[in-house]
Amino acid sequence: MPAKRESDLSALQTEILEAVATGSAFARVADTLCQRAETLAPSAICTIAAIDAEGLIHPVAGPSLPESYGVALDGSAIGPEVGSCGTAAYFGVPVEVTDIATDIRWKDYGDLALPLGLKACWSSPIKSPEGRVVGTFAFYYREPRGPSEMERQLVATCVHLCSIAMERAEVSRRLRHLAYHDQLTGLSNRYAFEEEFTEKMTAPASRFGLLLLDMDNLKQVNDSMGHSVGDGLIREVGRRLAAVSAGACVYRLGGDEFAVLCPDCKDADSLAVLAERLMSQMDAPYECDGNTIVPQVTIGGVLSNTDGASADELRQNADLALYHAKHTARGGFIHFHPGLRTSIQCRTEQTAMLGKALDEGRVFAHFQPVVCIRRARIVGVEALARIRTDEGEIISAGSFAMGLTDSKNAFRLASCMVEQIAAAMRGWIDEGLELRHVALNLSTIDFQRGDLEQRLRAAFDKYNVPLRYLQIEVTENVLMDQNVANQVARLRAQGMQVALDDFGTGFASLSHLKDFPLDYIKIDKSFVDSLLTDIACGAIVEALISMAHKMQIGIIAEGIETAEQAERLLEIGCPLGQGYHYFRPVDGETITTLLRSLDGKAPADATGTEPLRNSA
Ligand code: C2E
Ligand code: CA
Ligand code: CA
Repeated sequence: MPAKRESDLSALQTEILEAVATGSAFARVADTLCQRAETLAPSAICTIAAIDAEGLIHPVAGPSLPESYGVALDGSAIGPEVGSCGTAAYFGVPVEVTDIATDIRWKDYGDLALPLGLKACWSSPIKSPEGRVVGTFAFYYREPRGPSEMERQLVATCVHLCSIAMERAEVSRRLRHLAYHDQLTGLSNRYAFEEEFTEKMTAPASRFGLLLLDMDNLKQVNDSMGHSVGDGLIREVGRRLAAVSAGACVYRLGGDEFAVLCPDCKDADSLAVLAERLMSQMDAPYECDGNTIVPQVTIGGVLSNTDGASADELRQNADLALYHAKHTARGGFIHFHPGLRTSIQCRTEQTAMLGKALDEGRVFAHFQPVVCIRRARIVGVEALARIRTDEGEIISAGSFAMGLTDSKNAFRLASCMVEQIAAAMRGWIDEGLELRHVALNLSTIDFQRGDLEQRLRAAFDKYNVPLRYLQIEVTENVLMDQNVANQVARLRAQGMQVALDDFGTGFASLSHLKDFPLDYIKIDKSFVDSLLTDIACGAIVEALISMAHKMQIGIIAEGIETAEQAERLLEIGCPLGQGYHYFRPVDGETITTLLRSLDGKAPADATGTEPLRNSA
């Protein structure tokens, strides 16, 4: 090779390798390479194209050709008769077309090249180190001809340089993909989220919604079925979330946490609709290694334009909403509002108060009688948790309800309550003060450890009290969780009674009555309150009573405060009731004394001054 040519090629090589080494974008390197090649071979017009994994052509550089030429070729599939480049890529060998006008391989593409004065085209495949064709390097000529010897040497050097530059570009692409994607789910990861979020926050007048999601049951799945099932569940949840794109982008932030950025959510309603769609994605059970799991996510959300000024505030607010939802609305969605900060503070205080009371043995069961409205007899009691302060003041459950959303507190309270209930029931049985039941309130969190059945049974066995005396009270929301509903059904199969508490405050769906085996429905106080003033309300209660009667489900009206309410309930056929009109909740000793003195007979109200009138 002449010395001049050798030094030209070596200079070209140095320049291109340096550009590659310093991280120049592949398109720029390719452009420079074409320009230098055209300087060294003045009659050639140079182009470089990439071939993707699907075998589609994507022109990268062709500085001497109009842009429209590249645009027209972009996305064409390689094939045996796809010009010089498509054919070279298809067969993996150089293709020399000396006359575009007559060559069969150009029959479909000649109309693109000929009007530009391009008469011949010689294309060489660029291969990856594994031998896959990743691009083409082409020389076009303005007269029908093939390459010269010098051009062959030049192209050999250029193809080699292209191969290095493309490999480098591919490695960078993979590294970038790795850096911005989560390996387990394939979703964008925390870094990608941070970048996109910051970008959105800095864009002028940008409005978007941010949802933070947390899986509800991953820990139990990991603990009981192993980490590989847990990983499968995370992957499945990621897949289901990504399926609801709706213009939103889903990220896995780590562990069981996901985020969704939704540019289309401009108001609270659209954010809630999206959250609802994401939650409903979890409805279908997921089967893995012979296990069936119904995934569940809890969501907190904010809107960029209304729920926070700075990026940090917006994130914190979304976190607060999620935190609050996790503790008060698992499996649901909470949109941030400033009042949440106070609720969270309140929860922290109540959690601490209840924890301390449990530590110091100041938590007691009080009992509120459930009476047969017609016969004026006490038929059962509901146990309600109370804290006694150091000053002897009694605090009702309603005042520390938030403290019950802490799982440790919930576990300890349930143990403490069931122990006292079983002991009390033993005493009443021994005295012949037969009650049909003692009711225990349970929340979703009580079912989370999965050992509730054993714990209830152990306490009742300890006092030798048959489980049929135990009535468990759960709300509709609690039964919405399929796993909990299954546990409740098992408890009932063990002989316990099941009451649906607060009926009318939740979904109030009558379908629950046929889906879940129940013994009692407790009509919420809000219904009883409006019974005398709201005709529709009376009609609903009446219909409910008649339906429950047909299904052999008992009805208990809660929060009866007046004789008029009791009378009306009796008229519409409600058999059982509970409320201040009869008795307030009282401590264990008082209730025992009461049961003894009445021997089951109930007076009219808590003061006990008037006898019950409508008694039969
Ligand atoms: P709940 O199960 O609906 O219990 C009835 C609540 O209404 C009780 O409040 C009771 O004292 C009150 N109440 C009863 N009759 C009347 C009435 O005529 N008028 C009015 N205004 N109120 C009446 P409490 O004891 O503060 O309990 C509040 C809630 O805390 C309960 O609602 C229950 O959901 C929960 N809770 C109570 N004890 C426990 C427990 O041991 N475990 C769990 N998980 N939750 C409990
Ligand atoms: Ca209750
Ligand atoms: Ca209730």
